[in-house]
Amino acid sequence: MTSLRKLILLVTAVAAGACASNSGTVASPVASPTTAAQPRTAGCGPATPAETEGPFYKAGPPEKASLLEPGMSGTKLSLSGVVRDTSCTPIRGARVDFWQADAAGAYDNQGYRLRGWQLTDAHGRYHLETVVPGEYPGRTVHIHVKVTPPGGATLTTQLFMPGVARNESDSIYNAALLMNVRDGGAAKIATFDFVLAR
Ligand code: FE
Repeated sequence: MTSLRKLILLVTAVAAGACASNSGTVASPVASPTTAAQPRTAGCGPATPAETEGPFYKAGPPEKASLLEPGMSGTKLSLSGVVRDTSCTPIRGARVDFWQADAAGAYDNQGYRLRGWQLTDAHGRYHLETVVPGEYPGRTVHIHVKVTPPGGATLTTQLFMPGVARNESDSIYNAALLMNVRDGGAAKIATFDFVLAR
């Protein structure tokens, strides 16, 4: 192996290692000519777009990762993901605050049903247990969320469900905010990773 070849492999391996430590995925440190030739994308950007808060946010929600309650109707939704910054670094201790309508499209404006916040773990992960929200006048299916990194600015946005006919007629629908959703038996399994500008 030539010195130049060794240098190329070393640089590629270091880059792969840096990406793995940021993304939480395991990348092989052994470079191949194929991976060495592939262009690398820079960072995890663009940042997740903001959305309007809407009229139904209620201050002081409880800390809870499962919004499910006994007897709650609707299709269960298990949503998980990672909060990162635009350089791909997971953000530990970010506050992720969800609120949403119930399956019939109604918000609880008296109490805190279907409202709750949690902190991301050491790998920037969050996990929400809830139900698929219903539509209400003027709005397609959506989940509201505020994401606040430690000491940083809050991103207020909304998440959308793929395959909902009403998405296209909702004036603030944004395809960049679609969750990845698959069927998991009787429940829906969804993922969404937030990228915060810092
Ligand atoms: Fe709403």
